[in-house]
Formats: sequence, structure tokens, C-alpha cells
Amino acid sequence: MELNDLVRNIQHLIKCPFCGATYEIQHINILDRFKSMFVVHLFCSRCKRPAMAALIVSKNIDFLEEGEEPVTTDDLIEIHQFLKDFDGDFKKLWKKN
Ligand SMILES: [Zn+2]
Repeated sequence: MELNDLVRNIQHLIKCPFCGATYEIQHINILDRFKSMFVVHLFCSRCKRPAMAALIVSKNIDFLEEGEEPVTTDDLIEIHQFLKDFDGDFKKLWKKN
């Protein structure tokens, strides 16, 4: 499974929490990856509202590099902290990286 497939799956699985619209492929951005977990930024073209999602990809799907462990509890804490501290300012986020 490739990232493009993941984006297509996201499009099928996730709808805008505000208006229920389906996300367009170009508005689904994978921001970061922690092992088998992906942080995704979504933008709704209908109601113009952004959303963040953290997805954990099943171990059965071959995203892990050889020798990589599946997501641990520590990783979940890390992502939780990231989302908690994230103020929606993507310009700042990109500058930081
Ligand atoms: Zn919407």
C-alpha cells in the first residue's frame, strides 16, 4: 500500500465533522508520520474549515520499514501533545521543521 492509497482510503473513510462533506484528494495532506501512525490535515472545500486527524495504520499493512516497531504508548502521548499544542498555524509549523 502506498501513500496515495492511504489518501484515497482517507477520502472514503473520513467526512468533514462540521458539514459531512467528503474531502477532496488535494485537500488531504499527510503532515507527519510516527511509525504506523499518520497525522493528517484535512480541509473542507464546502464549509472551508480545517481538521486534523491521527490515523493508525494496521500492522497488516506494510508501511513499517524493516526493523521498525509498531506505534507504542509513548508515541501516542507524543502525538497527543503535538495536537494539544498545535494552534492551527501551519506556516509556523513548516518554519519550525
Ligand atoms: Zn465541511
